[in-house]
Amino acid sequence: MYDLIVIGGGSGGVRAARIAAQYGAKVALVEEYRMGGTCVIRGCVPKKLMVYASRFPIEFEEAAGFGWTVGEHQFSWASLKQNRDREVGRLEGLYRTNLENAGVEIFQGSAMLLSPSQVSLHQPATSQQTVLEGRYILLATGAQPVTDTSIVGHALCIDSNDFFELEAQPRRVLVQGAGYIALELACVLHHLGSTVQVAYRGQRVLRGFDAELQAVLEEELAQAGLALHRERRITRVEQTGTGLLVSFDSGEPVEVDAVLKAIGRRPKTDGLGLSAVGVQLDAHGAIQVDAASRTSVPNIYAVGDVTNRVNLTPMAIREGHAFADHVFGGRNGVVDHRLVPTAVFTTPELGTVGLTEEEALLSHPQLDVYTTRFRPMKATLSGHSSRMFMKLLVDRESDRVLGFHALGPDTGEMAQLMGVALQLQATKASLDATLAVHPTAAEELVTMRRPTRRHHWQAQA
Ligand code: FAD
Repeated sequence: MYDLIVIGGGSGGVRAARIAAQYGAKVALVEEYRMGGTCVIRGCVPKKLMVYASRFPIEFEEAAGFGWTVGEHQFSWASLKQNRDREVGRLEGLYRTNLENAGVEIFQGSAMLLSPSQVSLHQPATSQQTVLEGRYILLATGAQPVTDTSIVGHALCIDSNDFFELEAQPRRVLVQGAGYIALELACVLHHLGSTVQVAYRGQRVLRGFDAELQAVLEEELAQAGLALHRERRITRVEQTGTGLLVSFDSGEPVEVDAVLKAIGRRPKTDGLGLSAVGVQLDAHGAIQVDAASRTSVPNIYAVGDVTNRVNLTPMAIREGHAFADHVFGGRNGVVDHRLVPTAVFTTPELGTVGLTEEEALLSHPQLDVYTTRFRPMKATLSGHSSRMFMKLLVDRESDRVLGFHALGPDTGEMAQLMGVALQLQATKASLDATLAVHPTAAEELVTMRRPTRRHHWQAQA
Protein backbone atom coordinates (compact mmCIF):
# COMPACT_ATOMS: atom_id res chain seq x y z
CA MET A 1 0.00 0.00 0.00
CA TYR A 2 1.40 3.38 -1.03
CA ASP A 3 0.66 6.62 0.79
CA LEU A 4 0.42 8.35 -2.58
CA ILE A 5 0.06 7.29 -6.20
CA VAL A 6 0.77 10.09 -8.66
CA ILE A 7 -0.54 9.69 -12.20
CA GLY A 8 1.56 11.78 -14.58
CA GLY A 9 5.25 12.59 -14.47
CA GLY A 10 5.01 16.20 -15.66
CA SER A 11 5.62 19.51 -13.90
CA GLY A 12 2.90 19.08 -11.27
CA GLY A 13 3.18 15.33 -10.66
CA VAL A 14 6.95 15.23 -10.32
CA ARG A 15 7.03 18.08 -7.81
CA ALA A 16 4.20 16.61 -5.74
CA ALA A 17 5.80 13.14 -5.68
CA ARG A 18 9.20 14.46 -4.65
CA ILE A 19 7.90 16.72 -1.86
CA ALA A 20 5.54 14.03 -0.54
CA ALA A 21 8.44 11.56 -0.44
CA GLN A 22 10.54 14.13 1.42
CA TYR A 23 7.81 14.24 4.08
CA GLY A 24 8.35 10.49 4.45
CA ALA A 25 5.44 9.27 2.31
CA LYS A 26 5.74 6.02 0.34
CA VAL A 27 5.14 7.27 -3.20
CA ALA A 28 4.57 5.64 -6.59
CA LEU A 29 4.53 7.68 -9.80
CA VAL A 30 3.11 6.38 -13.08
CA GLU A 31 4.12 7.93 -16.40
CA GLU A 32 2.94 6.63 -19.75
CA TYR A 33 5.29 8.54 -22.04
CA ARG A 34 8.44 10.39 -20.96
CA MET A 35 9.45 11.79 -17.58
CA GLY A 36 9.21 15.57 -17.36
CA GLY A 37 5.88 15.88 -19.15
CA THR A 38 4.84 18.49 -21.67
CA CYS A 39 7.12 21.27 -20.46
CA VAL A 40 10.34 19.30 -20.73
CA ILE A 41 9.57 16.97 -23.62
CA ARG A 42 7.35 18.95 -26.00
CA GLY A 43 6.63 22.35 -24.51
CA CYS A 44 8.52 25.16 -22.81
CA VAL A 45 12.05 23.75 -22.98
CA PRO A 46 12.38 22.54 -26.60
CA LYS A 47 10.35 25.55 -27.71
CA LYS A 48 12.62 28.07 -26.00
CA LEU A 49 15.69 26.38 -27.48
CA MET A 50 14.12 26.80 -30.91
CA VAL A 51 13.27 30.42 -30.15
CA TYR A 52 16.96 31.04 -29.43
CA ALA A 53 17.87 29.39 -32.74
CA SER A 54 15.38 31.50 -34.64
CA ARG A 55 16.75 34.81 -33.38
CA PHE A 56 20.25 34.43 -34.84
CA PRO A 57 19.32 35.69 -38.34
CA ILE A 58 18.21 38.99 -36.78
CA GLU A 59 21.53 39.23 -34.94
CA PHE A 60 23.43 38.55 -38.18
CA GLU A 61 21.50 41.34 -39.90
CA GLU A 62 21.98 43.77 -37.04
CA ALA A 63 25.71 43.11 -36.79
CA ALA A 64 26.52 45.14 -39.92
CA GLY A 65 25.55 48.42 -38.25
CA PHE A 66 28.12 47.67 -35.54
CA GLY A 67 30.94 47.19 -38.03
CA TRP A 68 30.75 43.42 -38.47
CA THR A 69 30.84 41.64 -41.74
CA VAL A 70 29.15 38.35 -41.10
CA GLY A 71 30.13 35.60 -43.53
CA GLU A 72 27.86 33.16 -45.20
CA HIS A 73 25.63 31.39 -42.70
CA GLN A 74 23.61 28.25 -43.03
CA PHE A 75 21.05 26.69 -40.78
CA SER A 76 20.67 22.96 -40.19
CA TRP A 77 17.32 21.90 -38.77
CA ALA A 78 18.68 18.38 -38.31
CA SER A 79 21.56 19.58 -36.19
CA LEU A 80 19.32 21.85 -34.07
CA LYS A 81 16.89 18.97 -33.54
CA GLN A 82 19.69 16.61 -32.56
CA ASN A 83 21.18 19.05 -30.04
CA ARG A 84 17.77 19.98 -28.67
CA ASP A 85 16.72 16.35 -28.28
CA ARG A 86 19.97 15.59 -26.47
CA GLU A 87 19.29 18.37 -23.98
CA VAL A 88 15.69 17.21 -23.50
CA GLY A 89 16.99 13.68 -22.88
CA ARG A 90 19.45 15.00 -20.31
CA LEU A 91 16.69 16.85 -18.44
CA GLU A 92 14.43 13.81 -18.58
CA GLY A 93 17.20 11.79 -16.93
CA LEU A 94 17.62 14.45 -14.24
CA TYR A 95 13.91 14.34 -13.40
CA ARG A 96 14.09 10.56 -13.08
CA THR A 97 17.21 10.67 -10.90
CA ASN A 98 15.77 13.33 -8.61
CA LEU A 99 12.65 11.25 -8.07
CA GLU A 100 14.65 8.08 -7.45
CA ASN A 101 16.93 9.91 -5.02
CA ALA A 102 13.85 11.08 -3.14
CA GLY A 103 12.70 7.44 -2.87
CA VAL A 104 9.81 7.63 -5.35
CA GLU A 105 9.05 4.35 -7.14
CA ILE A 106 8.56 4.99 -10.86
CA PHE A 107 6.27 2.88 -13.05
CA GLN A 108 6.21 3.15 -16.82
CA GLY A 109 2.74 2.67 -18.24
CA SER A 110 -0.73 4.00 -18.63
CA ALA A 111 -2.76 4.38 -15.44
CA MET A 112 -6.47 4.10 -14.83
CA LEU A 113 -8.55 4.29 -11.65
CA LEU A 114 -10.29 1.09 -10.60
CA SER A 115 -11.61 2.48 -7.33
CA PRO A 116 -10.82 5.53 -5.14
CA SER A 117 -7.73 3.70 -3.84
CA GLN A 118 -6.77 1.40 -6.72
CA VAL A 119 -4.88 2.24 -9.87
CA SER A 120 -4.48 -0.23 -12.68
CA LEU A 121 -1.32 0.12 -14.65
CA HIS A 122 -1.07 -1.04 -18.23
CA GLN A 123 2.47 -1.59 -19.47
CA PRO A 124 2.37 -1.99 -23.25
CA ALA A 125 5.93 -3.37 -23.44
CA THR A 126 5.02 -6.42 -21.38
CA SER A 127 1.22 -6.15 -21.84
CA GLN A 128 1.22 -6.74 -18.09
CA GLN A 129 -1.57 -5.43 -15.88
CA THR A 130 -0.50 -4.33 -12.40
CA VAL A 131 -2.75 -2.95 -9.67
CA LEU A 132 -1.34 -0.41 -7.20
CA GLU A 133 -3.10 0.62 -4.00
CA GLY A 134 -2.79 4.04 -2.42
CA ARG A 135 -4.25 6.09 0.43
CA TYR A 136 -4.17 9.19 -1.75
CA ILE A 137 -4.18 9.57 -5.51
CA LEU A 138 -3.00 12.64 -7.39
CA LEU A 139 -4.17 13.16 -10.96
CA ALA A 140 -1.57 15.20 -12.84
CA THR A 141 -2.16 14.04 -16.41
CA GLY A 142 -1.89 17.46 -18.07
CA ALA A 143 -3.55 18.45 -21.32
CA GLN A 144 -3.33 17.59 -24.99
CA PRO A 145 -3.80 19.48 -28.27
CA VAL A 146 -7.38 19.90 -29.42
CA THR A 147 -8.11 18.22 -32.76
CA ASP A 148 -10.78 19.62 -35.04
CA THR A 149 -12.20 16.61 -36.83
CA SER A 150 -14.80 18.72 -38.66
CA ILE A 151 -12.14 19.75 -41.19
CA VAL A 152 -11.99 17.59 -44.27
CA GLY A 153 -8.48 16.14 -44.36
CA HIS A 154 -7.71 16.99 -40.70
CA ALA A 155 -5.46 13.95 -40.46
CA LEU A 156 -3.01 15.69 -42.80
CA CYS A 157 -2.44 18.45 -40.22
CA ILE A 158 0.13 18.35 -37.44
CA ASP A 159 -0.09 19.64 -33.86
CA SER A 160 2.51 21.02 -31.47
CA ASN A 161 3.52 17.48 -30.40
CA ASP A 162 4.24 16.57 -34.05
CA PHE A 163 6.08 19.86 -34.57
CA PHE A 164 8.84 18.74 -32.21
CA GLU A 165 9.20 15.48 -34.16
CA LEU A 166 9.65 17.10 -37.59
CA GLU A 167 12.84 15.75 -39.17
CA ALA A 168 12.96 18.49 -41.81
CA GLN A 169 11.94 22.13 -41.82
CA PRO A 170 8.73 22.69 -43.76
CA ARG A 171 9.32 25.54 -46.23
CA ARG A 172 5.72 26.78 -46.46
CA VAL A 173 3.56 26.58 -43.36
CA LEU A 174 0.05 27.49 -42.43
CA VAL A 175 -0.45 27.87 -38.68
CA GLN A 176 -4.00 27.80 -37.44
CA GLY A 177 -4.62 29.52 -34.14
CA ALA A 178 -3.60 32.76 -32.48
CA GLY A 179 -2.85 31.65 -28.94
CA TYR A 180 0.66 31.82 -27.55
CA ILE A 181 1.70 28.37 -28.80
CA ALA A 182 0.52 29.12 -32.36
CA LEU A 183 2.30 32.46 -32.47
CA GLU A 184 5.51 31.27 -30.86
CA LEU A 185 5.89 28.36 -33.28
CA ALA A 186 4.90 30.60 -36.22
CA CYS A 187 7.67 33.05 -35.27
CA VAL A 188 10.22 30.25 -34.86
CA LEU A 189 9.48 28.92 -38.35
CA HIS A 190 9.32 32.40 -39.90
CA HIS A 191 12.67 33.53 -38.52
CA LEU A 192 14.26 30.22 -39.48
CA GLY A 193 13.28 31.01 -43.07
CA SER A 194 9.93 29.28 -43.69
CA THR A 195 7.13 31.21 -45.34
CA VAL A 196 4.46 31.33 -42.66
CA GLN A 197 0.84 32.35 -42.72
CA VAL A 198 -1.31 32.43 -39.60
CA ALA A 199 -5.08 32.00 -39.84
CA TYR A 200 -7.39 32.37 -36.86
CA ARG A 201 -11.08 32.56 -36.11
CA GLY A 202 -11.15 35.68 -33.97
CA GLN A 203 -10.45 39.35 -34.51
CA ARG A 204 -7.37 39.53 -32.34
CA VAL A 205 -4.34 37.45 -31.43
CA LEU A 206 -3.68 36.27 -27.85
CA ARG A 207 -7.20 36.22 -26.48
CA GLY A 208 -7.34 37.42 -22.88
CA PHE A 209 -4.24 39.61 -23.06
CA ASP A 210 -4.31 43.42 -22.76
CA ALA A 211 -6.02 44.75 -25.92
CA GLU A 212 -3.37 47.39 -26.60
CA LEU A 213 -0.63 44.78 -26.24
CA GLN A 214 -2.48 42.53 -28.70
CA ALA A 215 -2.66 45.37 -31.22
CA VAL A 216 1.03 46.25 -30.85
CA LEU A 217 2.02 42.61 -31.25
CA GLU A 218 -0.08 42.24 -34.41
CA GLU A 219 1.58 45.33 -35.84
CA GLU A 220 5.07 44.07 -35.01
CA LEU A 221 4.41 40.57 -36.36
CA ALA A 222 3.02 41.97 -39.60
CA GLN A 223 6.02 44.26 -39.91
CA ALA A 224 8.33 41.30 -39.38
CA GLY A 225 6.72 39.69 -42.44
CA LEU A 226 4.31 37.23 -40.87
CA ALA A 227 1.01 37.06 -42.79
CA LEU A 228 -1.87 37.23 -40.30
CA HIS A 229 -5.37 36.30 -41.52
CA ARG A 230 -8.03 37.06 -38.95
CA GLU A 231 -11.54 35.59 -39.01
CA ARG A 232 -10.51 32.74 -41.26
CA ARG A 233 -11.23 29.07 -40.67
CA ILE A 234 -9.81 26.08 -42.49
CA THR A 235 -12.51 24.01 -44.18
CA ARG A 236 -10.48 21.46 -46.15
CA VAL A 237 -6.92 20.15 -46.47
CA GLU A 238 -6.02 18.08 -49.55
CA GLN A 239 -2.82 16.35 -50.57
CA THR A 240 -1.56 17.50 -53.98
CA GLY A 241 1.50 16.40 -55.92
CA THR A 242 3.45 19.37 -54.55
CA GLY A 243 2.10 19.86 -51.05
CA LEU A 244 -1.10 20.43 -49.13
CA LEU A 245 -3.86 22.58 -50.54
CA VAL A 246 -5.72 24.40 -47.77
CA SER A 247 -9.16 25.93 -48.33
CA PHE A 248 -10.82 28.44 -46.00
CA ASP A 249 -14.29 29.76 -45.34
CA SER A 250 -13.06 33.07 -46.80
CA GLY A 251 -10.07 34.04 -48.92
CA GLU A 252 -8.09 32.14 -51.52
CA PRO A 253 -6.80 28.58 -50.94
CA VAL A 254 -3.06 28.28 -50.28
CA GLU A 255 -0.58 25.51 -50.94
CA VAL A 256 1.82 24.71 -48.11
CA ASP A 257 4.09 21.91 -46.94
CA ALA A 258 2.64 21.71 -43.43
CA VAL A 259 -0.50 22.76 -41.61
CA LEU A 260 0.19 23.27 -37.91
CA LYS A 261 -2.96 23.34 -35.84
CA ALA A 262 -2.61 25.06 -32.48
CA ILE A 263 -6.22 25.86 -31.64
CA GLY A 264 -6.09 25.05 -27.97
CA ARG A 265 -5.48 22.28 -25.47
CA ARG A 266 -7.92 20.18 -23.50
CA PRO A 267 -7.48 18.43 -20.15
CA LYS A 268 -6.31 14.84 -20.58
CA THR A 269 -8.91 12.81 -18.73
CA ASP A 270 -9.87 10.13 -21.27
CA GLY A 271 -9.21 6.54 -20.28
CA LEU A 272 -8.65 7.44 -16.62
CA GLY A 273 -11.88 5.84 -15.41
CA LEU A 274 -12.89 9.03 -13.58
CA SER A 275 -16.68 8.87 -13.84
CA ALA A 276 -16.81 5.30 -12.52
CA VAL A 277 -15.13 6.37 -9.26
CA GLY A 278 -17.09 9.63 -9.00
CA VAL A 279 -14.46 12.25 -9.95
CA GLN A 280 -16.44 15.11 -11.44
CA LEU A 281 -15.50 17.17 -14.48
CA ASP A 282 -16.59 20.73 -15.24
CA ALA A 283 -18.33 21.89 -18.42
CA HIS A 284 -14.97 22.16 -20.22
CA GLY A 285 -13.92 18.61 -19.34
CA ALA A 286 -11.46 19.70 -16.65
CA ILE A 287 -11.30 17.93 -13.30
CA GLN A 288 -13.24 19.96 -10.76
CA VAL A 289 -11.25 20.77 -7.63
CA ASP A 290 -11.61 22.95 -4.55
CA ALA A 291 -9.10 25.59 -3.45
CA ALA A 292 -6.84 22.87 -2.02
CA SER A 293 -6.94 20.86 -5.30
CA ARG A 294 -9.22 18.16 -3.86
CA THR A 295 -11.65 16.52 -6.29
CA SER A 296 -15.20 15.36 -5.57
CA VAL A 297 -13.66 12.14 -4.15
CA PRO A 298 -12.05 13.04 -0.78
CA ASN A 299 -8.75 11.11 -1.17
CA ILE A 300 -8.23 12.03 -4.84
CA TYR A 301 -6.58 15.33 -5.76
CA ALA A 302 -5.72 16.92 -9.09
CA VAL A 303 -3.18 19.57 -10.09
CA GLY A 304 -1.87 21.25 -13.22
CA ASP A 305 -3.37 21.53 -16.70
CA VAL A 306 -5.87 18.73 -16.11
CA THR A 307 -7.70 21.16 -13.79
CA ASN A 308 -7.56 23.97 -16.37
CA ARG A 309 -6.93 26.76 -13.88
CA VAL A 310 -3.75 28.56 -14.99
CA ASN A 311 -2.12 26.33 -17.60
CA LEU A 312 1.52 27.15 -17.06
CA THR A 313 4.42 25.12 -15.70
CA PRO A 314 5.17 27.28 -12.64
CA MET A 315 1.52 27.00 -11.58
CA ALA A 316 1.46 23.21 -12.00
CA ILE A 317 4.62 23.05 -9.87
CA ARG A 318 3.16 25.39 -7.27
CA GLU A 319 -0.07 23.37 -7.07
CA GLY A 320 1.82 20.06 -6.85
CA HIS A 321 4.01 21.41 -4.07
CA ALA A 322 1.05 22.87 -2.16
CA PHE A 323 -0.80 19.55 -2.42
CA ALA A 324 2.13 17.66 -0.85
CA ASP A 325 2.58 20.33 1.84
CA HIS A 326 -1.10 20.12 2.66
CA VAL A 327 -1.68 16.37 2.69
CA PHE A 328 1.69 15.17 4.03
CA GLY A 329 2.97 18.27 5.83
CA GLY A 330 -0.23 19.50 7.41
CA ARG A 331 0.13 22.93 5.81
CA ASN A 332 -2.23 25.16 3.88
CA GLY A 333 -2.79 23.78 0.38
CA VAL A 334 -4.41 26.85 -1.15
CA VAL A 335 -2.63 28.39 -4.12
CA ASP A 336 -3.17 31.98 -5.19
CA HIS A 337 -4.04 31.98 -8.89
CA ARG A 338 -4.28 35.72 -9.28
CA LEU A 339 -0.93 37.37 -9.91
CA VAL A 340 0.64 35.41 -12.78
CA PRO A 341 3.72 36.84 -14.47
CA THR A 342 4.09 35.35 -17.91
CA ALA A 343 5.96 35.71 -21.19
CA VAL A 344 5.10 34.92 -24.78
CA PHE A 345 8.22 34.01 -26.72
CA THR A 346 7.23 35.42 -30.03
CA THR A 347 9.85 37.60 -31.72
CA PRO A 348 9.49 40.27 -30.46
CA GLU A 349 8.56 38.68 -27.16
CA LEU A 350 6.16 40.03 -24.63
CA GLY A 351 5.95 40.00 -20.87
CA THR A 352 3.02 40.74 -18.66
CA VAL A 353 1.79 40.56 -15.08
CA GLY A 354 -1.32 41.76 -13.31
CA LEU A 355 -4.56 43.13 -14.66
CA THR A 356 -5.18 44.14 -18.27
CA GLU A 357 -6.53 47.64 -18.82
CA GLU A 358 -9.95 46.17 -19.57
CA GLU A 359 -9.94 44.10 -16.35
CA ALA A 360 -8.57 46.95 -14.23
CA LEU A 361 -11.33 49.28 -15.34
CA LEU A 362 -13.98 46.91 -14.03
CA SER A 363 -12.85 47.44 -10.45
CA HIS A 364 -10.72 50.62 -10.58
CA PRO A 365 -12.61 53.43 -12.27
CA GLN A 366 -9.91 55.98 -11.44
CA LEU A 367 -7.19 54.42 -13.55
CA ASP A 368 -4.04 56.03 -14.88
CA VAL A 369 -2.43 54.42 -17.90
CA TYR A 370 1.22 55.07 -18.61
CA THR A 371 2.51 53.93 -21.99
CA THR A 372 5.67 54.39 -23.94
CA ARG A 373 6.79 53.16 -27.34
CA PHE A 374 10.33 53.73 -28.40
CA ARG A 375 13.19 52.51 -30.52
CA PRO A 376 15.58 50.49 -28.38
CA MET A 377 19.13 51.85 -28.28
CA LYS A 378 20.51 48.89 -30.21
CA ALA A 379 18.28 49.79 -33.16
CA THR A 380 19.95 53.17 -33.57
CA LEU A 381 22.95 51.46 -35.20
CA SER A 382 21.40 48.20 -36.30
CA GLY A 383 18.63 49.99 -38.17
CA HIS A 384 16.09 47.42 -36.97
CA SER A 385 12.63 48.95 -37.22
CA SER A 386 10.98 47.06 -34.35
CA ARG A 387 9.96 49.29 -31.42
CA MET A 388 9.49 48.50 -27.75
CA PHE A 389 6.22 49.02 -25.93
CA MET A 390 5.64 49.34 -22.21
CA LYS A 391 2.55 49.98 -20.21
CA LEU A 392 1.78 50.45 -16.53
CA LEU A 393 -1.68 50.57 -15.01
CA VAL A 394 -2.00 52.54 -11.79
CA ASP A 395 -4.98 52.92 -9.49
CA ARG A 396 -5.10 56.66 -8.84
CA GLU A 397 -6.77 56.30 -5.44
CA SER A 398 -4.27 53.93 -3.84
CA ASP A 399 -1.34 54.62 -6.24
CA ARG A 400 -0.97 50.82 -6.56
CA VAL A 401 0.50 49.41 -9.78
CA LEU A 402 -2.11 46.96 -11.04
CA GLY A 403 -0.61 45.76 -14.29
CA PHE A 404 2.50 45.69 -16.45
CA HIS A 405 2.46 44.84 -20.15
CA ALA A 406 5.44 45.08 -22.45
CA LEU A 407 6.70 43.99 -25.83
CA GLY A 408 10.27 43.90 -27.05
CA PRO A 409 13.59 42.24 -26.24
CA ASP A 410 13.86 40.76 -22.75
CA THR A 411 10.36 41.76 -21.67
CA GLY A 412 9.84 38.20 -20.40
CA GLU A 413 12.70 38.80 -17.97
CA MET A 414 11.17 42.15 -17.00
CA ALA A 415 7.81 40.50 -16.29
CA GLN A 416 9.49 38.26 -13.72
CA LEU A 417 10.87 41.24 -11.80
CA MET A 418 7.73 43.31 -12.16
CA GLY A 419 5.97 40.24 -10.75
CA VAL A 420 8.04 40.68 -7.58
CA ALA A 421 7.19 44.39 -7.47
CA LEU A 422 3.46 43.73 -7.85
CA GLN A 423 3.61 40.92 -5.28
CA LEU A 424 5.11 43.48 -2.89
CA GLN A 425 2.19 45.77 -3.75
CA ALA A 426 4.37 48.35 -5.46
CA THR A 427 3.00 51.85 -5.85
CA LYS A 428 3.78 54.21 -8.70
CA ALA A 429 5.62 56.36 -6.14
CA SER A 430 7.88 53.40 -5.26
CA LEU A 431 8.72 52.87 -8.94
CA ASP A 432 9.43 56.60 -9.28
CA ALA A 433 11.70 56.44 -6.21
CA THR A 434 13.69 53.57 -7.77
CA LEU A 435 16.87 54.70 -9.45
CA ALA A 436 17.12 53.87 -13.15
CA VAL A 437 19.69 51.45 -14.52
CA HIS A 438 21.14 53.35 -17.43
CA PRO A 439 21.27 52.70 -20.34
CA THR A 440 18.64 49.96 -20.38
CA ALA A 441 15.17 49.56 -21.81
CA ALA A 442 13.78 48.61 -18.40
CA GLU A 443 14.65 52.04 -17.00
CA GLU A 444 11.52 53.31 -18.75
CA LEU A 445 9.56 51.55 -16.00
CA VAL A 446 10.87 53.93 -13.37
CA THR A 447 10.90 57.06 -15.49
CA MET A 448 7.36 57.24 -16.88
CA ARG A 449 6.19 60.59 -15.54
CA ARG A 450 2.89 61.51 -17.15
CA PRO A 451 -0.07 59.24 -17.78
CA THR A 452 -0.99 58.73 -21.44
CA ARG A 453 -4.65 58.44 -20.45
CA ARG A 454 -6.60 59.02 -17.28
CA HIS A 455 -9.85 57.13 -16.89
CA HIS A 456 -12.54 58.74 -14.75
CA TRP A 457 -15.52 56.50 -14.54
CA GLN A 458 -18.50 57.95 -12.74
CA ALA A 459 -21.15 55.66 -11.30
CA GLN A 460 -24.33 56.13 -13.36
CA ALA A 461 -26.97 58.18 -11.49
P1 FAD B 1 2.14 17.71 -18.10
O1 FAD B 1 3.44 18.39 -18.00
O2 FAD B 1 1.47 17.69 -19.42
O3 FAD B 1 2.33 16.24 -17.57
C1 FAD B 1 1.32 15.27 -17.65
C2 FAD B 1 1.98 13.90 -17.76
O4 FAD B 1 1.00 12.90 -17.51
C3 FAD B 1 2.52 13.62 -19.16
O5 FAD B 1 3.88 13.28 -19.06
C4 FAD B 1 1.66 12.48 -19.68
O6 FAD B 1 2.39 11.59 -20.50
C5 FAD B 1 1.25 11.81 -18.38
N1 FAD B 1 -0.01 11.05 -18.48
C6 FAD B 1 -1.19 11.46 -19.03
N2 FAD B 1 -2.13 10.49 -18.88
C7 FAD B 1 -1.53 9.46 -18.24
C8 FAD B 1 -1.98 8.18 -17.82
N3 FAD B 1 -3.25 7.76 -18.01
N4 FAD B 1 -1.10 7.36 -17.20
C9 FAD B 1 0.18 7.76 -16.99
N5 FAD B 1 0.66 8.95 -17.37
C10 FAD B 1 -0.18 9.80 -17.98
N6 FAD B 1 4.21 26.78 -19.83
C11 FAD B 1 5.00 27.77 -19.34
O7 FAD B 1 4.93 28.07 -18.15
N7 FAD B 1 5.91 28.42 -20.14
C12 FAD B 1 6.05 28.13 -21.46
O8 FAD B 1 6.87 28.73 -22.15
C13 FAD B 1 5.24 27.09 -22.00
N8 FAD B 1 5.37 26.73 -23.28
C14 FAD B 1 4.62 25.71 -23.79
C15 FAD B 1 4.79 25.36 -25.11
C16 FAD B 1 4.05 24.33 -25.66
C17 FAD B 1 4.25 23.96 -27.11
C18 FAD B 1 3.11 23.63 -24.85
C19 FAD B 1 2.29 22.52 -25.43
C20 FAD B 1 2.93 23.97 -23.51
C21 FAD B 1 3.69 25.02 -22.97
N9 FAD B 1 3.54 25.41 -21.64
C22 FAD B 1 4.32 26.43 -21.14
C23 FAD B 1 2.53 24.78 -20.76
C24 FAD B 1 3.17 23.76 -19.83
O9 FAD B 1 3.89 22.82 -20.61
C25 FAD B 1 2.09 23.06 -19.02
O10 FAD B 1 1.33 24.04 -18.34
C26 FAD B 1 2.69 22.11 -17.97
O11 FAD B 1 3.49 21.14 -18.59
C27 FAD B 1 1.56 21.44 -17.18
O12 FAD B 1 2.09 20.49 -16.30
P2 FAD B 1 1.22 19.25 -15.82
O13 FAD B 1 2.03 18.57 -14.77
O14 FAD B 1 -0.14 19.69 -15.49
O15 FAD B 1 1.07 18.32 -17.10
